[in-house]
Amino acid sequence: MRIKFWGTRGSTPVPGKDTIIYGGNTTCLEVDLNSGRKVIIDAGTGIRPLGSEFVSRREDVDIHLLVTHIHWDHIFGFPFFLPIYRSSTRILVDGYDLSMKGLRYSFDNKMGDGLWPIRFEELKADIQFIDKLTHGCLEIDGTIIDSIRLRHPQGGLGFRFREGDKTLVFLTDNELDVKDKSFSDYIAFCQEADILIHDSQYIPEEISRHRGWGHSDYQSAIDLALKAHVKKMVLFHHAPERKDSDVVKITILCQDLAKKKDSNLEIESAKEDSVLVL
Ligand SMILES: [Zn+2]
Ligand SMILES: [Zn+2]
Repeated sequence: MRIKFWGTRGSTPVPGKDTIIYGGNTTCLEVDLNSGRKVIIDAGTGIRPLGSEFVSRREDVDIHLLVTHIHWDHIFGFPFFLPIYRSSTRILVDGYDLSMKGLRYSFDNKMGDGLWPIRFEELKADIQFIDKLTHGCLEIDGTIIDSIRLRHPQGGLGFRFREGDKTLVFLTDNELDVKDKSFSDYIAFCQEADILIHDSQYIPEEISRHRGWGHSDYQSAIDLALKAHVKKMVLFHHAPERKDSDVVKITILCQDLAKKKDSNLEIESAKEDSVLVL
């Protein structure tokens, strides 16, 4: 499995000189399974450059798109994903139960409602909602993907990929609370994952005034990774105001925290355009 980050930022895109290292695009990951099948997670603004790459390679696009939830930062790139304007494209959508509604509503819904010049019905691509993950697991070429409900306003889904003996867990827009009974469910879901990519939008000093906003601080994300015996944790959904220098400091702080607990947990922060191989 190969994982490429096309967008790592939370809430809103933040281009500029302070976000060159970790990136300014919002959530989008490309997961290449060993079979060659491509699974894209979320259609934040990071999906735009991914679409441009598909077009420049002149290859037909046949992908799964898993949507965690339909807050703007997770679907706003979809109208800019050039393959949707080609009849050779096929997209199988799964994930959050309102995924298709969210993708559809990012276009013009009635003639001239002003949101976007084109209606969803006018797209040339074949886009289907396969709706497996809210009822059970999704199997793609032997890789088993299952889901867990997120603690997030209006809900959402996190995903776990199991390919052979390798496990990747992706949980963003998830508010961990070690005192809540859901915490043990997340521990079970992440158990012995090779890679856990988790929301760590906040620092511990910020979390008390953002309770109920649906995001975690890095301390609780580390607690989860340690309790679940994860091998590598990747901090994700960086706050829009966080500069590259802030993310570097947070990453070092987290690595020190793990070392103090005598843990071998590897910790890094998700960087746009970077690749992890599992
Ligand atoms: Zn988000
Ligand atoms: Zn959200």
